[in-house]
Amino acid sequence: MNDFPQGSVWLVGAGPGDPELLTRKAERLIGRAETIFYDALVGEGVLALAGPNARLVHVGKRSGRHSKDQGTIDRLIVDAALKGERVVRLKGGDPAIFGRATEELDACRAAGVSVSICPGVTAASAAAASLGASLTLRGLARKLTFVTAHARAGETLDLDWTSLADRDATLAIYMGKAAATEVSRQLIAAGLPADTPVALVESASLPTERHFRTRLDLLPIAARSALGDGPALLLIGQALAERTVITATAAMEACPC
Ligand code: SAH
Repeated sequence: MNDFPQGSVWLVGAGPGDPELLTRKAERLIGRAETIFYDALVGEGVLALAGPNARLVHVGKRSGRHSKDQGTIDRLIVDAALKGERVVRLKGGDPAIFGRATEELDACRAAGVSVSICPGVTAASAAAASLGASLTLRGLARKLTFVTAHARAGETLDLDWTSLADRDATLAIYMGKAAATEVSRQLIAAGLPADTPVALVESASLPTERHFRTRLDLLPIAARSALGDGPALLLIGQALAERTVITATAAMEACPC
């Protein structure tokens, strides 16, 4: 199969960190790439799958510490492809979710460079797996909203809190750690009950993974005290309630008959 000719680019989803959560296609493309541009959130285990002669270029961005601006990244990718290299642009999670993929797709297409996307496991799916919970719940959480709570430097968070405060939905908030206090305050002000279940998941799928359950009014304290330096996702909604599972024996003991 030659879906990766010289001079072409793949935007590849690196998943949440654990290399076993890569797709087989991602693994193959990473192994064939001559140049790999990768983000700060791409796990070491994923980078270890690169070929021995591949050039690995860190173009990492973590909030507040932008090492390369988006325009520079776009140019680096296009230049490498125009030199005839097989280029992989590795992005944490799924490239099409809060990954600035549009800028890179546009830059490649404008330069006449062939570009394709290989999807990846997004952080919300990995977070649910690490909690052992479902993001949706029949009859109670029929909607799943992915939202970013990242504000540009100096700007306040401009979100439609009224529509986000939906009791039938699960909210998966990306880049929300710094905004946890505002998220809690605004959602409660917009009508979500203060005791709405919340889960915080940090570094999902990695050995440093941590998770913590709390409620919406206690989210600010939890975000400050329970989380470290890793990327973290906030999950909010009834689907995240701790569930009491009644086992058959317990049910029989409780039964008066
Ligand atoms: N494209 C990525 C999201 C990039 S935005 C995806 O689909 O997952 C970066 C944000 O994703 C982080 O601030 C954090 O909120 C979340 N994130 C990424 N990796 C994560 C992980 N392993 N555990 C928890 N959250 C993660």
